[in-house]
Amino acid sequence: MAKKRLVVLTGAGISAESGFSTFRDNNGYWDKYDPEDVASIRGWERDRQYVLDFYNGVREQLRDASPNRGHMLIASLEKDYDVDVITQNVDNLHERAGSTRVLHLHGEVTKVRPEKGAYDRDFSVSEVFDIGYERVDVGDLAPNGTQLRPHIVWFGEAVPNIEKAMDIVMKADIFLIVGTSLSVYPAAGLYRYVRDGVPIYVIDPKDVNLRDKRVVHIREKAGVGMEKFIKILENSR
Ligand code: NAD
Repeated sequence: MAKKRLVVLTGAGISAESGFSTFRDNNGYWDKYDPEDVASIRGWERDRQYVLDFYNGVREQLRDASPNRGHMLIASLEKDYDVDVITQNVDNLHERAGSTRVLHLHGEVTKVRPEKGAYDRDFSVSEVFDIGYERVDVGDLAPNGTQLRPHIVWFGEAVPNIEKAMDIVMKADIFLIVGTSLSVYPAAGLYRYVRDGVPIYVIDPKDVNLRDKRVVHIREKAGVGMEKFIKILENSR
C-alpha cells in the first residue's frame, strides 16, 4: 500500500532545543540585533558588513550545533510515511537529521548569491552558491562582479518557494506544524491549503495563530511533542 503523505511545517521553535533562539522568546542573541536591521533590504543598504557579520555569526553557531530529538524524529518518520518538510528556518538541521525532502521558504544561511543578479528577476536562475560555514565580508564578490549577499528572504521580499509549498500542502494526508507562531506571512497561511478531512496537529508550548476545528494542539516542546505525535499516529494506524 502507498505510504500516507505527511507534510510538516516547521519554524524557529523546532531548532530551539539545538540552541537556536526564536525571534519572540527572550534570548541574548536577538536582544543584540533588531530583525529589521539584519533582515531587510534597508538594513543591508545601510550597513552591509553589519548584516554580513550577523549571518557569519549564525553560520558559526550552526556549524557547532546539532539536530535535536525533534528533527531526528521527523526524519525517522520517512520509514513509514512519505514526508515533506517545509521549513521557515534558514538552518540546515532537518537535512543533518536525515530528512530528504526539505523545502526552505525563507532561504538558507549556508548559501549566498550576488546582490544584483538574474535571480532577482527569475528565481529559477542558478546563481546561488553553497559556502557551508565560511564567512563572507564586504568585498567578497560573485562571478558577476557584485557583492555576495546571504541567500535569505528578508522582510518585504518575495518568497520564491511559496507556490511549491502550496502544492505540497494540498497533497497532505496528515499536516503537522511544529514550533512556529504562524505570524509571518505567507507561510502562516499555508494551512488553508490543507484538504477537507485532513487532520492538523500543532506542536508548540504556546498558543499559535491558528483557529481551525481540526487542530489537535500538543502543548509541548518539539522533542517531547514529536514523541507524543508519533504515539498518536501509531494508535490511529
Ligand atoms: P517565532 O519566533 O515567531 O515562533 C516560534 C514558536 O516556537 C513560538 O510559537 C514558540 O512558542 C515556539 N517554541 C519555542 N520553543 C519551542 C520548542 N522548544 N519546541 C517547540 N516550539 C517552541 O518563529 P517563526 O514562526 O519560525 O517565525 C520567525 C521567523 O524567524 C521565521 O521566518 C524564521 O525564518 C526566522 N528564524 C529562523 C531561525 C532558524 O533558522 N533556526 C531562528 C530564529 C528565527
